[in-house]
Amino acid sequence: IFSLFTVGTMSAQKKDYLDKNKPTEERIDLLMKQMTLEEKVGQMNQYNGFWDVTGPAPKGGSAELKYEHLRKGWVGSMLTVRGVKEVRAVQKIAVEETRLGIPLIIGFDVIHGYKTLSPIPLAESASWDLEAIKKSAAIAADEASASGINWTFGPNVDVSNDARWGRVMEGAGEDPYLGSKIGAARVKGFQGDSRSDLLKVNTIAACAKHFAAYGYVEAGLEYNIVDISNSKLYNMVLPPFKATVDAGIRTFMNSFNTLNGIPATGNAFLQRDILKNKWKFDGFVISDYASIREMIAHGYAKDEADATMKAAVAGSDMDMESYLYVAQLAKLVQDGKVKESVVDDAVRRILRVKFELGLFDDPYKYCDEKREKEVVGSKTNRDGVLDMAKKSIVLLKNDKNLLPLKKSGQKIALIGALANDKNSPLGSWRIASDDNTAVSVLEGMQNYKDNHLTFEKGADLTVGKISFLDEVVFNTTDKSGFEAAKKAAKNADVVVMVLGEHGFQSGEGRSRTDLNLPGLQQELLEEIYKVNPNIVLVLNNGRPLSIPWAADHVPAIVEAWHLGTQTGNAVAQVLYGDYNPSGKLPMSFPRNVGQVPIYYNKYSTGRPVDTDKNVFWSHYTDVEKTPLFPFGFGLSYTTFEYKNLKVVKNSVSKGEPVKVSVDVSNTGNYDGKEVVQLYIHDEYASIIRPIKELKGFELLNLKKGETKTVSFTLTDKELGFYDNDGNYLVEPGTFKIMVGGSSDKGLESGFELF
Ligand code: BGC
Repeated sequence: IFSLFTVGTMSAQKKDYLDKNKPTEERIDLLMKQMTLEEKVGQMNQYNGFWDVTGPAPKGGSAELKYEHLRKGWVGSMLTVRGVKEVRAVQKIAVEETRLGIPLIIGFDVIHGYKTLSPIPLAESASWDLEAIKKSAAIAADEASASGINWTFGPNVDVSNDARWGRVMEGAGEDPYLGSKIGAARVKGFQGDSRSDLLKVNTIAACAKHFAAYGYVEAGLEYNIVDISNSKLYNMVLPPFKATVDAGIRTFMNSFNTLNGIPATGNAFLQRDILKNKWKFDGFVISDYASIREMIAHGYAKDEADATMKAAVAGSDMDMESYLYVAQLAKLVQDGKVKESVVDDAVRRILRVKFELGLFDDPYKYCDEKREKEVVGSKTNRDGVLDMAKKSIVLLKNDKNLLPLKKSGQKIALIGALANDKNSPLGSWRIASDDNTAVSVLEGMQNYKDNHLTFEKGADLTVGKISFLDEVVFNTTDKSGFEAAKKAAKNADVVVMVLGEHGFQSGEGRSRTDLNLPGLQQELLEEIYKVNPNIVLVLNNGRPLSIPWAADHVPAIVEAWHLGTQTGNAVAQVLYGDYNPSGKLPMSFPRNVGQVPIYYNKYSTGRPVDTDKNVFWSHYTDVEKTPLFPFGFGLSYTTFEYKNLKVVKNSVSKGEPVKVSVDVSNTGNYDGKEVVQLYIHDEYASIIRPIKELKGFELLNLKKGETKTVSFTLTDKELGFYDNDGNYLVEPGTFKIMVGGSSDKGLESGFELF
């Protein structure tokens, strides 16, 4: 499928574009003037290093062919090349063997850490701690850059309210406001605070993905079509992407899905009209893996040439893994089917980011073996991810004050295969890290030596080998460990059960149609409960689960997600009270999968009231319509009380800031941290507004007995919304506000906007 290009025979090239003192745009001009069409197209081509290292190349090209193209200057980027040695090898070819010596930009899925893993992104989002999240991204950038990488395919800013979709683990949950703040924090963690920070050696370019609306795949089915209203697109999907542009993000990735029948990759409305024209994004867009080629299977492109043309014209600047731009694009330009200006625009964007990273000034900047040794897996980074892991834990229930556990004199039975698992807690998306490198919950709890701890797995969770690319198969038959587990539970004061999903059960290609505890876990839980109901359930999962039985029966539930390298230490420190949990759910937990999509920022029907006996109100006949655990919910070992909610003026004119304050007290027995949340409701508008929308939050540290006043200011930025054409409107009307520690409860007030 590769056309044979002829490398332009040009007179000896001038290296004037290497002059650091010239402005970037001038350097790009000088370089582009010397580039042949084939070399330009080459910049738009990314090859995968993965297949060269681990096996045969997929359809389209052998490793040898890739190297041949590299030497010709027909490759602008590589992905999944890891480690200084490998990166140096390919960079050397690009820089020293090609005519113009244009360095490669090296991409990698640094999704939640590189080798030292932080919690999965959904878990981190439960911290609501923007500083911690930024720091976590900075740790990832530090390690990745020390391994030769200068570009991550993250953050994922796909808002999603469908827990069936496995990729909710990669995002920040269901809310666009929280998602925007977290997306921006991650961008700054990866790239630094300003564009010039990209010149540093420990920052990398970030990539907002997947543009756009991938979080709304129909029925939660991976790669499915997306069919959403304009209102949803403008108000729910796009704001976090816009926030990453405002935070200075340098690249975007499009997505596998269609939107209104047009693949995102061939979607000029998204990539050109909105992203590049309206938002003035001047970085580049990469396809999502082979999404350019996939437009043929979608039924949107006739053949490879048509797919290439449609993607390039629509604003997909770089082709990941389709092998199509390199094979087709130059010819399409020569035949007059694609304007050369389309290619020039893409190349300019790609070169711009390479210049900004300082790659032309020192192409081996990220290839420092000494730094690689010092930084990757360092103690500092391990401590950093432990901090993030503790902050990500959400306490969902704590009746009978089972938690925190006493530090001595207790007999504890630890049950569940996941408790002794050093692999699963690492979560999905961890290509650079070694298997079995998590601290297990068992290991973490063994650090507390003054208790009597016994471990029984009860039952294996899975059967057979499980890797990133394998389907996870669950144990549904072998209960031979049940009796031993029951015996241990019977003899214990407290039972800690670690149950949930396998780490590879969420992530890409991992859609589910039920959200229950898989395998034999529910049965094991109920059996153990019969012999000892003093259960602390620790959940390991990459998405909201529906656990109505546990929520009714089990006295204590701790949401511990997949917390990465330091899982066991974080869990043990929370269980033993060395860290008081403060996380709040970034996604609603359903009672039952039939409620999905379920989300707090829903709309009112014309028949909203369900307290009335009348069955014709909006409700389900078989299950309550509320979530099991709502967005924003999470407990602490202490208690907080909210008082004196004040809106300074209850009538304001448009443009005037609305000042809100509230007193929050720590009324319990521990020092603690509370995420104070402010929600608004615009009671009537030209397009209906959600019954609640998060518009502010603050993390508050309170010593026991202490009270603090928290203030918020609402401006036009928080009070408006997008109409169906994407215009931002602030309409006069009546606004309700609610302030509290969860989306379902709080003090209420309001104001008129005129
Ligand atoms: C995923 C992207 C990822 C890319 C490269 C795709 O399948 O959708 O999120 O960055 O692969 O690994």
